[in-house]
Amino acid sequence: MALRLTGLTREELTEQMVQWGEKPYRAVQVWSWVYAKLASSVEEMTDVSKTFRARLTDELTPWLPRAVSHRVSADGTEKWLLACDDGVVTETVYIPEPGRGTVCVSSQAGCSLACPFCRTGTLPLRRNLTTAEIVEQVLFVRSTLATRGLRVTNVVLMGMGEPLYNLEAVTRAVRIIMDGNGLAIGCRKLTLSTSGVVNRMEEAGKNLNVNLAISLHSVRDGVRDQLVPINRKFNLAALRRAALAWPLRGRGRVTWEYVLLDGVNDSEQDARELVQWLKGIPSKVNLLGFNPWPGAPYTPSSRETMLRFQEIVANSGLVTIIRDSRGADVGAACGQLAGGTDSDASSPEMNRNA
Ligand code: SF4
Repeated sequence: MALRLTGLTREELTEQMVQWGEKPYRAVQVWSWVYAKLASSVEEMTDVSKTFRARLTDELTPWLPRAVSHRVSADGTEKWLLACDDGVVTETVYIPEPGRGTVCVSSQAGCSLACPFCRTGTLPLRRNLTTAEIVEQVLFVRSTLATRGLRVTNVVLMGMGEPLYNLEAVTRAVRIIMDGNGLAIGCRKLTLSTSGVVNRMEEAGKNLNVNLAISLHSVRDGVRDQLVPINRKFNLAALRRAALAWPLRGRGRVTWEYVLLDGVNDSEQDARELVQWLKGIPSKVNLLGFNPWPGAPYTPSSRETMLRFQEIVANSGLVTIIRDSRGADVGAACGQLAGGTDSDASSPEMNRNA
């Protein structure tokens, strides 16, 4: 059976080489060609013998996915729909910023959590993505952009799906993405985002030495029950305990995502309660504007309201930024990812994922 090398860690690739009767250093060569030199085919591996190249051609499946759609926003954000072998598509977004470039990666096709402000939540969960399908999103974007001299410096697991519901594949993918001889995205440049799957956060914290972002959106259980329905299972008190237990490095902080929805969670009292609730947790707050999508049940807060909310939170000493929506004109902004449904056909947009 053909081998999907992007699903293997470097150690596993080494074992595979040994099983094929090859020297272990072959794994280093192949790994370096694929992840560091960004080769798109075996033929490019010029320091590998012809005989071994012939074997690799026979044994390996292509490691770069096929893009079925590519859209570029006026602000430089780019979105691809990448085809999986079974016809499922993943959405992957690149967000260029001064001094860095971030790839937003999907971990599932669709999502089972149905957060009503998130367009992905309107889609059924089709399936978990495999380790290879997660890794290949980063590899694809890095390879594609390298030809244009653009860099990938950061990765956020904040695309379609809840990463903690696909923890095993995500953990393996993170190891591959972080491998210093390959894509080499360091732990400080990698962020896992969750809607608050509290019973998997401890395991994730132990296995993944990465930054943590949490979709919060309200510190009142009644409101959060509506906005992030998993709150009915794991309430704010449980979420708070899990966040406190996350192994932060040095001066690291938990990032809290808070989408401001008109009349729902954007009052001055909401801001004051947020400040109180975060007391004792090393935190950074990202305030997100909401871009309505067709049928969305919410409307965005006014700029004035957002600034007032930010002022109250910032005055408490918390680092608080208003994250400007990126890629909204091509359906690439947070929470707009809809797996190639009509959001991909230039419809108006919305906001943030888990
Ligand atoms: S916000 Fe995240 S967890 Fe909620 S529906 Fe969207 S993708 Fe799923």
